[in-house]
Amino acid sequence: VPERIADRLFSDMLLPDETKKVRQQVREVAERDIAPHAREIGSRDESVESFPWEPFRALAEADLFRIPLGPEHGAGLEHRALAVATAVEELAYVCSSVATVYDGQCILAGRTVEHGTKRIRDRYLAPLAAGDIVASFATTEPDASTDLSPGALQTVAERTSSGWVVNGRKRFITNSPVADIVVALCRTGLGSAGTPRTPGASFMLIPLKDTPGVTVGRPDLKLGQRGQLTADITFEGVELPEDHLLGEEGDGLRLALSILTYSRVAIGAAGIGLAQAAFDLAVEHLSNRRAFGKRLGEFQHWQFRMAEHATGIENGRSLYQKAARRIDGGAPVPEPEAAMAKWYCTSLAVDVARDCLQALGGYGYMRELAATGQGSKLEEIYRDAKVGEIYEGANEIQKWIIARSILGRDITG
Ligand SMILES: Cc1cc2nc3c(=O)[nH]c(=O)nc-3n(C[C@H](O)[C@H](O)[C@H](O)COP(=O)(O)OP(=O)(O)OC[C@H]3O[C@@H](n4cnc5c(N)ncnc54)[C@H](O)[C@@H]3O)c2cc1C
Repeated sequence: VPERIADRLFSDMLLPDETKKVRQQVREVAERDIAPHAREIGSRDESVESFPWEPFRALAEADLFRIPLGPEHGAGLEHRALAVATAVEELAYVCSSVATVYDGQCILAGRTVEHGTKRIRDRYLAPLAAGDIVASFATTEPDASTDLSPGALQTVAERTSSGWVVNGRKRFITNSPVADIVVALCRTGLGSAGTPRTPGASFMLIPLKDTPGVTVGRPDLKLGQRGQLTADITFEGVELPEDHLLGEEGDGLRLALSILTYSRVAIGAAGIGLAQAAFDLAVEHLSNRRAFGKRLGEFQHWQFRMAEHATGIENGRSLYQKAARRIDGGAPVPEPEAAMAKWYCTSLAVDVARDCLQALGGYGYMRELAATGQGSKLEEIYRDAKVGEIYEGANEIQKWIIARSILGRDITG
């Protein structure tokens, strides 16, 4: 385990004591219960059996799924967004797959189920917060992802005399191969002839196990983040009781965007965790590896590179913390900070991972060196970092959101 350079360079002086304690607690869990499994989690091919149950249970036992939730089932924190982003940074430092499992469970799904009735919250949010069930969040479809407008959604929930019937297909859904429930964004408001009455989108809570009409596909095989499982979910005539609608009918897109904005701050924090992990590995290598009779760190090229990346990491951490603070301060959609944090931190992770792998040369590229049996976690960080630029709103969309606040919607659209 390399020295955590962040602890020497970075001061948590802007964090409240409450959040510093969360960082410490999550770090302990991550180092004790996740780090020993992290290489295996990040390297093996995806299958239903490869879900990281031991880390999941450790997070549950430490009550960490409660961090972003409100008073009813939450951890009772004052700075919830700041705490959960800090938790995600710590998890991603050790294993970014587990950070994404955590994000899907308690930020995306958990905060959506909070919009259910008391009966639904008792039945599903209580076990979700305790980690007794696994939850997933589904907006993406084969032909609707970046564009989630009701007209683009093909998954439809129609009213029946006793509730709802859902038909459609969701794609790339994190946690779904092992999940007990999914909250799915569906098109609603169709008239009896199938023509839009008041076109809108709404979230439905759909139990996945033993529900007639639900099929979860086999896990996708991915470039990175192999420890978090994604799959397609299809719904064919799935019948739901009335109260499985979450929030108001027609309010789903607004809800999705506000929950995704919250989560994007945490995805930015995950980028910082990944960047910091790559950075620390490279510093260790640059301090020891010799070429041309000198340690690599004696070359000014690497001194400047690492100085630039240390500054980038410091910037990114401050940016996501500021966005989280705006959420905790009550800003409904804290743009542009959330968009800035998401794209800056996730792109930084890709840049830092690439340069740090370069610093390790062939050793950084190896999954396993046959002569010694050793491999570098940098190849895994390099593979894992890329998805941060794609999911939860591609980074081009984040720049569009920022441009909107600069130029106004009448120019940017
Ligand atoms: C590992 C993984 C886990 C995921 N987990 C979930 C999940 O749990 N739940 C869920 O609902 N979804 C999930 N997703 C889906 C993810 O959010 C989408 O992949 C993402 O929104 C991008 O959609 P797309 O892949 O269909 O790309 P598209 O929408 O087809 O876009 C492709 C590319 O086009 C570019 N682009 C698109 N629109 C614009 C524009 N207006 N201007 C400029 N460029 C543009 C972007 O570069 C984008 O990357 C996951 C995806 C992955 C890879």
